[in-house]
Amino acid sequence: MFLGLKIAIDGPAGAGKSTVAKKLACRLGFLYIDTGAMYRAVTYEALLKGVSMEDEIALTDLARNINITLSVDPDNETRIFVDLMEVTREIREPVISRHVSLVARVSGVRRELVRLQQQMAAAGGVVMEGRDIGTVVLPDADFKFYLTASPLERAKRRARELEENGHRIDLDQLAGEIAERDKIDSTRVTDPLRPATEAEIIDCSAVDAEQVVQMIVEKVAGRIG
Ligand code: C5P
Repeated sequence: MFLGLKIAIDGPAGAGKSTVAKKLACRLGFLYIDTGAMYRAVTYEALLKGVSMEDEIALTDLARNINITLSVDPDNETRIFVDLMEVTREIREPVISRHVSLVARVSGVRRELVRLQQQMAAAGGVVMEGRDIGTVVLPDADFKFYLTASPLERAKRRARELEENGHRIDLDQLAGEIAERDKIDSTRVTDPLRPATEAEIIDCSAVDAEQVVQMIVEKVAGRIG
């Protein structure tokens, strides 16, 4: 009944988008596409090759020629490959998080990745997560949600994820890094982070992912069913 729908989920870092988007895709039997992983993969490659974060031409070139593959496990965990080499863990490292917004602000990089993302979503039946999905990548999405949460809650969420991966976290430092990333993401010239005009804004500070998913499923079923 939901066949072919496109659902856009945007919002700042740590708002709980990934958990919600993954669970939602599972519930609907949709493909989950994590666009942040693609910006992270380009950043990983740039750091590996010693490309300067200021060199927009080289970064654009890299984004144009990179061979990114996303594969989704049955439990909707995304695995990401660059030139067939798996970088799923590497792209989550703090060093990538500290640089990714610098890469993502380059308009040439965005042009290349947006094109890929539009191809990936063309058939519909997707939940696509990012910063500019409702505004730029899928302006025709059937549903648009913008998830947010208080800065402290977002920092705590990211800290939990990092600790699960064996990192020791200074919460204040992490909160500062997230604030810096939000600032770059929301003030960049090309496709800044902002809710689409028709997006429904959901504050996830005091609700868990399951409740948000349920809320979204009810909205989708209510409009389509
Ligand atoms: O979602 P995640 O936190 O992994 O995204 C990492 C970074 O990638 C964001 O902070 C942002 O700079 C960039 N990004 C973007 N547009 C998207 C998805 C992510 O600019 N659609």
